[in-house]
Amino acid sequence: MDTDKNGKPWAKYGALRPGDHVIVADGFDCMPAGAMLEVQGNSHEGLWISCSHGRHSLLGQLDDDDNSLLGIYVAEGSPQE
Ligand SMILES: [Zn+2]
Repeated sequence: MDTDKNGKPWAKYGALRPGDHVIVADGFDCMPAGAMLEVQGNSHEGLWISCSHGRHSLLGQLDDDDNSLLGIYVAEGSPQE
């Protein structure tokens, strides 16, 4: 599924870059629903966001299509740097 149950698209791993911002859905015990977080990382380590455990790897959120990130939305108006 590349969208949530309401049809809102998940962020796509291949389109995210460090410095982009994402918003997390509910269902995480390490991040509050609706939190806006900056994407960090690099091509070597992969991309991650900060959570209460430290680094929350976005690779761990990949759906079967290896691109959609379950529970992760692109932040509207995310500054592109
Ligand atoms: Zn986490």
